[in-house]
Amino acid sequence: MSDTYLELVNSGVTASLAKKLGLPRPARLRRTDPSSVDRPLTPGPVLVLSDARATTEADTLAQGLLDWDLDVRRDSRLSDHERWGAVVVVLTGLEHPRDLAAPALELGSVLRGLAPGGRVVTLSRTSPAVVADPSGTDGSGDGAAPAVAAARHGVDGFLRSVAKELRAGATANGLVLADGVAVDAPSVRGGLRFLLSARSAFVDGQLLQVGTDGGTEPADWARPLAGTVAVVTGAARGIGAAVARVLARDGAHVIGVDVPAAGDSLSAVMNEVAGVALQLDITAEDAAERILAVARSRYGHLDVVVHNAGILRDKLLANMTPDRFEDLLAVNITAPLRMNETFARPGVLGGGAGAPRIISLASTSGIAGNRGQTNYGAAKAGIIGMTRALAGPVGRAGGTVNAVAPGFIETDMTARIPPLPRQIARWGSSLQQGGRPVDVAEAIAFLASPQAGGINGQTLRVCGQMLVGQ
Ligand code: NAD
Repeated sequence: MSDTYLELVNSGVTASLAKKLGLPRPARLRRTDPSSVDRPLTPGPVLVLSDARATTEADTLAQGLLDWDLDVRRDSRLSDHERWGAVVVVLTGLEHPRDLAAPALELGSVLRGLAPGGRVVTLSRTSPAVVADPSGTDGSGDGAAPAVAAARHGVDGFLRSVAKELRAGATANGLVLADGVAVDAPSVRGGLRFLLSARSAFVDGQLLQVGTDGGTEPADWARPLAGTVAVVTGAARGIGAAVARVLARDGAHVIGVDVPAAGDSLSAVMNEVAGVALQLDITAEDAAERILAVARSRYGHLDVVVHNAGILRDKLLANMTPDRFEDLLAVNITAPLRMNETFARPGVLGGGAGAPRIISLASTSGIAGNRGQTNYGAAKAGIIGMTRALAGPVGRAGGTVNAVAPGFIETDMTARIPPLPRQIARWGSSLQQGGRPVDVAEAIAFLASPQAGGINGQTLRVCGQMLVGQ
């Protein structure tokens, strides 16, 4: 699946024509080769800025970045030939919206020096919980809270707007730390590394919550999933095949599941990653038990479940038929729900090198809705609800449950969209293009990794900051 327009605006005569006509000029994104490690991590030195109260935390963070052989600086002067690979802005000390002005303007003063494919990453704190006791007797209702909440939540709008101003494949994303989570906690460092790297090419304008200091840094950052066993449903093609490849690259043993009709393609993908092919319709009552049986007989355990298989049955609701609505729900939400009754039970997942991980495919259509997709929107929003509900119980058992919501990704599924709406969908994102299956796979591999153990119940969008949705 290729985007011919993207190729044309990046080559010779057609590139200058597009510039003259003022047409969108999407950049080629900095991506990781699925078969190799991501070095160098950033395309230039990393500048660490902070608000006035967060200088000590910024120092701690900057010191930690040195472990990754990065050229880390606290001074924003740059020599003539240099461009910033990334700017990290530590905003954990904000107590009032006016505290944002100085670091925001400092960031603004260096943005012209950001390299193509560069990164802006903010670190901030979660907004204080909704006031439980308005009388203030529990201490949460005092007068400071609204200003603190305004300052902390203000980072959300700031970051998303910065992302819309960046060009040349650069992105801006944020990590939002719960109170008490240190800036050098495993999932803060793991999340930062993911966002700085080429692995997050199509993640833009997103804020990812780090809820706890759980998780561990891997012994080898190139193979964080070494020793883990993962199952990927719908692995014969598209996003699922890319997930299988990236998980295998990161060291996992992969079991790929798909319907018998896709058996040949499934075998080809599994041969490529030295994985196990399991022909199985996920709507079967005993799908989870059959997957577990294969994992246990082959490897002794199962750690990671990726609920990726999905179908489309688009129709305007006025023209919708019962079979189109019900078939879609059966595959896209009822099957993952049923399988999780088994997978989310304590002691079922894990037991290898990795802690239990369940990662499901949502969609921006489940966040913002989409014309002709009432069934799909309901199922994908259902995935987000299921993810939140399972986060507590699976979290208490030492695991995590998260979702990834792709926007427009170039696959067989989206190749069926007529050319004009397809091009409009690509231009609807800040990166002005569709993502690739590997972009979604990289986000899933990150959430499956030990360094993401403090991230639970979240839905990470991989959408190039699509206009739709919050
Ligand atoms: P795809 O149609 O290319 O691949 C889906 C795979 O799932 C196929 O191999 C198919 O055979 C398999 N499958 C379908 N029903 C199954 C069943 N009952 N049992 C086992 N396997 C089954 O789709 P894709 O574009 O790679 O999408 C993968 C996932 O990502 C889906 O959940 C989809 O809803 C979601 N998603 C995709 C996009 C996108 O732009 N492509 C956007 C948002 C979300």
